[in-house]
Amino acid sequence: MKVAFFSTKSYDKEYFTKFNTDNVHELTFFEVPLNEQTAVLTIGFEAICVFVNDIINRETIKIIKQNGISLIALRCAGFNNVDLKAAHENQIKVVRVPAYSPESVAEHAAALILTLNRKTHKAYNRVREGNFSIENLTGFNLFAKTVGVIGTGLIGKAFCKIMLGFGCKVLAYDIKESSDLVAKGVVYKSLDDILNESDILSLHCPLTPETAHVIDANAISKMKDGVMIINTSRGALIQAKDAIEGLKNGKIGYLGIDVYEQEADLFFQDLSESVILDDVIARLISFPNVLITGHLGFFTKEAVEEIATITLNNLTSFENNRELVNEVKS
Ligand code: NAD
Repeated sequence: MKVAFFSTKSYDKEYFTKFNTDNVHELTFFEVPLNEQTAVLTIGFEAICVFVNDIINRETIKIIKQNGISLIALRCAGFNNVDLKAAHENQIKVVRVPAYSPESVAEHAAALILTLNRKTHKAYNRVREGNFSIENLTGFNLFAKTVGVIGTGLIGKAFCKIMLGFGCKVLAYDIKESSDLVAKGVVYKSLDDILNESDILSLHCPLTPETAHVIDANAISKMKDGVMIINTSRGALIQAKDAIEGLKNGKIGYLGIDVYEQEADLFFQDLSESVILDDVIARLISFPNVLITGHLGFFTKEAVEEIATITLNNLTSFENNRELVNEVKS
């Protein structure tokens, strides 16, 4: 198939070219994101391959339909950026990579926890400056702490197992309970109980109308003083302005985020020579107890290989009229 890739980086080209054995598909890599303005680039292609911050709304879908696109292949798990109803109405199929390496994101959440807690990022910089002082680098033991997990799907499950390995008490909230996790010692509770009881909260549910801003001022007010909040799922799960208030008044002791509601204008770009115009992220960056990574939870060698392989298989299945096992239905 002739496939137009959007928001591509060097690693996308590298892995997709490597796994596109015998050049089964004709891949064209555009660096620009897909949106209403760039949708014109899809002329002459049959499918598009998009990532987390491409905007595939009704208007974009109208344009790509006119240009002959019949498949949207997401090279990610989340699909909140696609108007599924509009795609369905325009007979455009949507496929994704539901599971590539849940451990990659779960381990990144654990990395954020350990870095924020044990301040390894600060210790690293101090030692490089010849400063071997450990003043103000006190952490806390993870052992016996209560970790609340919101969303226990593939990533949440992998995360629960890591935290159980640290000897934490793991509480979970999900609309579907996992008997496997219960057997391992995870205790399902109401969302309020999780908010009340957790020393560390980690978000692993998808972004939906029900979960948008699930962490807002009201939710934060129910948390323990000094709580650590980790978000590797989608930025809009947290109302960032409320989190800033929580950080200013000390209610939130630590915040680790790999995602941010307005990340589309910032992430995956080198803005080191630019003035950041987003005052919310600028304020977040200024806190000593906030750690931000630019959506790299998925970014391990194993995960990127899986993403390329599964996406290419999704394209081949569509081309050959085979069952689309990874279809996202509206
Ligand atoms: P999944 O579908 O396997 O699991 C999601 C879980 O959330 C399910 O168990 C579901 O029942 C639960 N859920 C749905 N609605 C809920 C609600 N209202 N309240 C509580 N729980 C609810 O998905 P996954 O593979 O574990 O991925 C989770 C999310 O992680 C994705 O939606 C995506 O946004 C994010 N993600 C981030 C990265 C990254 O690089 N940072 C990479 C992949 C995925």
